[in-house]
Amino acid sequence: MIHIAIDGPSGAGKSSLAKGLAARLGINYLDTGALYRTVGYAARERGIRPDDRKAVADMLGSVSVEAAFENGKQMMYLDGKPLGDAIRQHEISSYASAVSAIPEVRAFLLETQRDIARRESVVMDGRDIGTVVLPKADVKIFLTASAEVRAKRRFDELQQKGDKTPYAQILAETKQRDKQDSERTIAPLKQAADAVLLDTSDDTVKQSVDAILAIVRRKLG
Ligand code: C5P
Repeated sequence: MIHIAIDGPSGAGKSSLAKGLAARLGINYLDTGALYRTVGYAARERGIRPDDRKAVADMLGSVSVEAAFENGKQMMYLDGKPLGDAIRQHEISSYASAVSAIPEVRAFLLETQRDIARRESVVMDGRDIGTVVLPKADVKIFLTASAEVRAKRRFDELQQKGDKTPYAQILAETKQRDKQDSERTIAPLKQAADAVLLDTSDDTVKQSVDAILAIVRRKLG
């Protein structure tokens, strides 16, 4: 079995690169952010405030969160029902972010993530995969890019959807989220000591996938 951990701040290109890498290796890709989004979704459905630690922790006793791979694509199930793209809504991002800071939520999802790794080879991306979830991963990559480049990528993405949020605002939000993610006390975003740092600021997606493949080949031989 092969386990590859890819961590980094939002906008560094984790999901497209992890997906590309998994496809090249012929193994599944687990987007761990989707698990936090599912817990956030469950809280919203039940009218629970995502920063209400006690209510969210209590909720965990009565929900089932499962990830399944169907034709290589990850599907999230909440209480046995498929969620589709509902977890991608903008509002769910803030629910996911708030519940992800609750220790009980992290402990709950830790087992879900490790169960999947016990069963199969997988590329996982997130914030704490190399440090907490899979400390013995065969390859760990910490993906980064300057805040300016990440904000510009997000800006371009939003423009394509017709969203006119100014670049300066996106840059400020990006810097704010970096600060929150790296300063939170539980599972903060940080590079594992044995992770390879890859800065994608000046690379195209193709160049980044090639760079990641080169790191994986070097590590796995
Ligand atoms: O990556 P994505 O935006 O889908 O993640 C949703 C939220 O879950 C983020 O706010 C992030 O902080 C959190 N998360 C986390 N640990 C992970 C993956 C995501 O705390 N391994």
